[in-house]
Amino acid sequence: MEGKNSLESQLRAAGRRMTPQRILILSILDETGDHLDAEEVYRRAKKLNSNLNIATVYRTLGILKEMDLIEQRYFARDHSIEYYESVNKGEHYHFTCLGCRKIIEVETPKILQVQQEFSALTGAKFTHACVCFEGYCASCVDEEENLTL
Ligand SMILES: [Zn+2]
Ligand SMILES: [Zn+2]
Repeated sequence: MEGKNSLESQLRAAGRRMTPQRILILSILDETGDHLDAEEVYRRAKKLNSNLNIATVYRTLGILKEMDLIEQRYFARDHSIEYYESVNKGEHYHFTCLGCRKIIEVETPKILQVQQEFSALTGAKFTHACVCFEGYCASCVDEEENLTL
């Protein structure tokens, strides 16, 4: 693992080549507003390039993540599935509905404020914040209320 990481950073320092597979997968994630897992990325990529296999998709996702071009996220607390999205979407967090599994993006400056306050207080420098929200979306809350009436 250690060796792989140093190879990655060397390649990054040397400026990595954008291969057609990398461009294809990056453009799928750039263009969608959705949060895709590797299987869904593969399903969409395969339509555009039938030569792709799932191993290449996994490898390419890993490389794009190393290049800081995509974000890897976990939504459920058990971290059972990794989702990918473009870094171009900017700072946001995710709410997962435990009822219908819908994902709602949470945009708030508050997390950044917490980081800034904590940094000012302790001198620590944040590089990443991982915050996930879980609960029930409005329609699942409604459904629950209708059932109990
Ligand atoms: Zn729901
Ligand atoms: Zn998102």
